[in-house]
Amino acid sequence: MTGEGTAALNDDVLLTVRNLHQTYEAKGARGERNRFQAVSGISFDVRRGETFGLVGESGCGKSTAVRTILQAPPPTDGTVHFDGIDVVAASGAERTALRRRLQMVFQDPFSSLNPRWRVERLVAEPLAVHDVGDRASRSERVSELLELVGLDAAVHGRRRPHELSGGQCQRVAIARAMALDPDLLFCDEAVSALDVSVQAQILNLFAELKESLSVTYVFISHDLSVVEHVSDRVGVMYLGKLCETGPATQVYENPAHPYTAALLSALPVADPRLRHGRRRVRPEGEMPSPLRPPSGCRFRTRCPRAQEICAEVEPEPRVFGDDHTAACHFPLRDPIDVAGQVAVTMSSRP
Ligand code: ADP
Ligand code: MG
Repeated sequence: MTGEGTAALNDDVLLTVRNLHQTYEAKGARGERNRFQAVSGISFDVRRGETFGLVGESGCGKSTAVRTILQAPPPTDGTVHFDGIDVVAASGAERTALRRRLQMVFQDPFSSLNPRWRVERLVAEPLAVHDVGDRASRSERVSELLELVGLDAAVHGRRRPHELSGGQCQRVAIARAMALDPDLLFCDEAVSALDVSVQAQILNLFAELKESLSVTYVFISHDLSVVEHVSDRVGVMYLGKLCETGPATQVYENPAHPYTAALLSALPVADPRLRHGRRRVRPEGEMPSPLRPPSGCRFRTRCPRAQEICAEVEPEPRVFGDDHTAACHFPLRDPIDVAGQVAVTMSSRP
């Protein structure tokens, strides 16, 4: 739902995703094979040094989008460029290099860590796999990494995952992800399984690492408040598409898409001043199945503003501010009239 931009030619852009599709097969009730699009044509840019937040309800395709960017599995359509490299067409050697430069932190640190290994081996593994340094230098690097994530190598290095708390496990997972000095880190629900107080500590750690290691983040969460806390820019996903993208402050304080507003109104009101003026348009019911997405605008079946045209015509992205686009026939405020200018990124259309 937001489109092709000129940003792909811009040096500041580290990751360019265009018209990304991912199709899965699902067995129907009578054993028939149904194909459905978990990601239905999303486009966005991630700039060097920023944190790009990807939000949306559970099942809207966030994890699939990230896995598809990382070619596991490769997209059924669309392109991904990382630092000028065509990721989809990358050769074997290029792929190995990309695997070092693109890293991921998952939701559940326990299941992403081998339970039989000690922390020092877990953190050394990526170095060993990529043949970085010798045993002695790797051991030194492991101590450095553990210190970086706030763990004591002498104390925690000899422990196994079950001897650590959830927060400590996530610190180990982050140390592993940082071991090869990546340029881009995808954090997929990386704090969602943690207690709120631990969440704050891990979010602070991400912020510290961003400062000290000049790493770029794509931060994925169903939790808008988490994404708001860390992101420079955000993309809001609904049923395999992006419905709004823009600078985090603009999108949160002045959303244009009814879905974004609905997600925001479902947030607990921690600071009434921040929520002032947000319209309460909580979406009704459940997100439809991606097997049978609604015609036209995918959000229309839950949208309080939907009219006939929403079922007939898929809305094109329109501009609502600097770098801020949303795809809606009846947005919460008027789009900016940019004569002769095509709205940038998000579009499902090639
Ligand atoms: P999110 O991360 O936003 O919660 P996902 O990307 O996990 O969403 O899922 C998007 C859709 O794709 C869901 O309908 C989910 O059931 C489906 N899905 C995810 N992974 C697979 C898979 N490996 N095979 C088939 N369907 C999948
Ligand atoms: Mg997910």
